[in-house]
Amino acid sequence: MDRYFLTQIFSTCLVCGVYDMKPGVAVHKFSSCDGCQLAFLNLGEELLELDRLVEIVHFAEAGPFDEQTPVAIAFVEGSISTQADTERIRRVREQADFLITIGACATSGGVQALRNLADSGAWHASIYPEPEYLDSLDNVTAIREHVKVDLELWGCPVNSRQVLAAVRALLFGVLPETDRDKVCMECKRQQNVCVIVAQGVPCLGPVTRSGCGSLCPRFGRDCYGCYGPAEALNTASLGKRFAGLGLLPEQVVNRFRAIHSHLEEFAPPQGPDYDRE
Ligand code: SF4
Ligand code: SF4
Repeated sequence: MDRYFLTQIFSTCLVCGVYDMKPGVAVHKFSSCDGCQLAFLNLGEELLELDRLVEIVHFAEAGPFDEQTPVAIAFVEGSISTQADTERIRRVREQADFLITIGACATSGGVQALRNLADSGAWHASIYPEPEYLDSLDNVTAIREHVKVDLELWGCPVNSRQVLAAVRALLFGVLPETDRDKVCMECKRQQNVCVIVAQGVPCLGPVTRSGCGSLCPRFGRDCYGCYGPAEALNTASLGKRFAGLGLLPEQVVNRFRAIHSHLEEFAPPQGPDYDRE
């Protein structure tokens, strides 16, 4: 997607940046906990500023409800887990010039994709007296497996600053920057004490992309990988380090699988120490 196309979407003058009309924005929810929509709301006064620049057409959590009107940007929270979801996401895509997934659920399936590792049909039968009435697909899937996604913003929840920065970049007719640096780099910049070294806890920062501002290590806890895979990651080496901290092979595997269980990059480290069989 080039600058010309973006400026067509946002109807701006390339010289002065003035908008012909406010671009429409929609925030859609699929299977999720609403935490990423709350990250939007946590923008506080900046959300009011955003409202000055764009027309928020649909954002059920905040009030406006209109899923039908075409928009310039559609934000999508949540994964696809029902047949109805598969049809609705296609309609969302058709009505949006630029589609941005927000959060782990939308970008990789998130926590609820853990059910793909089990027999969810057996779970339904053990919980519901008449499970045949449930609209539930066998597997939870990410949005990109169903429609074209223009930008993915990771995190659980997504960082509200990143959301705002993405909208600002698009309003200026440029594609938002995507950062795949490691959380460790952010830790160094912020002079955090490393929790692996100081506390001996299994931190996923060495394989996780930054963007959260190293939030967890900053508060003395280990990163759990919600921002997804960084570039040039080495899970096998980190897995060995976790084993050295006393984690059993099963615990090492679960550590990598917790948030992004279906990402190839976060697949369980391979090697004699980590074989599950
Ligand atoms: S990514 Fe995390 S915070 Fe966002 S909706 Fe999913 S579970 Fe909630
Ligand atoms: S605390 Fe985690 S993210 Fe920070 S430097 Fe140590 S290993 Fe890396």
